[in-house]
Amino acid sequence: MIQNLNLRELRSEPHVDVGLLIQRDASIIIERWLKRVVREQPDAARLHHQSLIDHLPSLLYTMGQSLAVQLEDDAAPDQAPAERHGEHRWETGWSLPEVVRDYQILRLVIFEYLEENLDRPLSFREGRAIDLALDEAISASVSAFSRQSVAELRRQAEALKEADQHKTDFLAVLAHELRNPLASVVTSMELLRLLDGQDPRIDQARAITERQVKQMVRLVDDLLDLTRIARGKLELRRTVFMVGQAMTQAVQTVLPLMQAQGHQLTVDLPTELIHVEADELRIVQVLVNLLNNAAKYTERGGHINVSASREGDEVVLRVRDDGIGIEGEKLAAIFTRFTQIDRSLHRSRGGLGVGLALVRQLVELHGGQVSAHSEGLGKGSEFVVRLPALKPSSVPLPSPSAAAPASTSTPAATARRILLIEDNTDACETLSLLLRMLGHHVESATTGPEGVARAVASRPQIALIDLGLPGLDGFEVARQIRAALGEAVLLVALSGYTQEEDRRRAEEAGFDAHLPKPIELEELSRILSDMSK
Ligand code: ADP
Repeated sequence: MIQNLNLRELRSEPHVDVGLLIQRDASIIIERWLKRVVREQPDAARLHHQSLIDHLPSLLYTMGQSLAVQLEDDAAPDQAPAERHGEHRWETGWSLPEVVRDYQILRLVIFEYLEENLDRPLSFREGRAIDLALDEAISASVSAFSRQSVAELRRQAEALKEADQHKTDFLAVLAHELRNPLASVVTSMELLRLLDGQDPRIDQARAITERQVKQMVRLVDDLLDLTRIARGKLELRRTVFMVGQAMTQAVQTVLPLMQAQGHQLTVDLPTELIHVEADELRIVQVLVNLLNNAAKYTERGGHINVSASREGDEVVLRVRDDGIGIEGEKLAAIFTRFTQIDRSLHRSRGGLGVGLALVRQLVELHGGQVSAHSEGLGKGSEFVVRLPALKPSSVPLPSPSAAAPASTSTPAATARRILLIEDNTDACETLSLLLRMLGHHVESATTGPEGVARAVASRPQIALIDLGLPGLDGFEVARQIRAALGEAVLLVALSGYTQEEDRRRAEEAGFDAHLPKPIELEELSRILSDMSK
């Protein structure tokens, strides 16, 4: 016989004796069910179980009731116990398959019990009505559960967002507050450097403090930048510049560190002029961060290379080291702020885990991408930055003097003999290295008299002379060299201040050119290449 089942009818028709029996014997049914579930799912975690047991009496009671009475045509059965069960389970944790299995077992137990205790067989319609009531109870329970879960997840996400905002605000304030005292310390350290040290131990302590403070300044600045980006407060100051220029600036910044750690740094400048429209300071900062990391995560005496090349519409900057490397599964995480690889080898090198996060944010603000590559521990690492490059045709034609063809971009076509006279040993070593990198022969001296003596002995083509030399100052050194070597030598003044007065005095002393410090390699290269015309 084909039964024409209609859900609404099925739900509203009364099944009095079945409903009453379920209500009356709910506790016996529950007891049987309890034994069955343990037998049938012996390994279940049953986290929801106690709450199901607590809710089953009222669940069965209301189910029995809705079966027994004639419901209004479209009245919904009372789902409150099932819903409460679903909500309650949220707190206890659950597994959907286990719960469904428990309800299935409940269905079987109810059927068996009714078969046994009704004095007649269960009718087909009664069976379907019980199925329907149970299905609706399961559905109400699961919906209540997921409503609760979604609401809870939303609440957690909101709370996390708020906590993250608080943390960003706190870090911004912290970094800001640290910055001011640090700035005074840095200035005082510079002052101390100018005072002649009587005691080498004081000098040594000063040098250590200065290095450490600079490191702190770098960390604090990175932190400040990161929080600025997170709050949308970092603005890029875009200009058009050559990538090689940013590279040389970055290299200049990190050279002292590379030397201190005995690393060999090689630079492959692009063989063509590549221009970008970007915030030059920020691009330098990206490179400095990557180079610092390369130095930091490479054992003493390592090899580090930085290169740039054009690939289609992009300029690709690569920083490679043969250091401790990174495990494959950690590669993706290292760009997340405050992430450090938790291995003593990595951890022992300090840091906050903000450098790479900042690199990524800065590169992305420029519309570029950064990625990390490593073949594994001990196999070195490579960081690749891709930035949109300007098409050669869209770059305004450089003025003739700026055209110094790829001056820093390729090792100098003509190697020059250069004498560098500079009393600051760090600056002296850095600049000599850079000049050597460009293919020149460099000699250096750190005092005025030594400089003059070397000039006379080795007759350089160019002398770069710091004006602020103690004892015999730069002006006097220039005069003496000019007197000894005549016009055969090009004299270039290096000075921290470029006031008119300095320029005039330098010219009088016989200098051919004047370079402000820190030295722009582009500018220096231009002077060197002008010399050959
Ligand atoms: P920090 O150096 O302050 O820990 P970074 O954000 O700069 O933070 O780097 C995150 C992590 O990535 C580092 O802790 C380190 O484990 C790993 N890492 C970065 N650069 C290198 C590299 N060149 N070689 C190996 N590991 C690196």
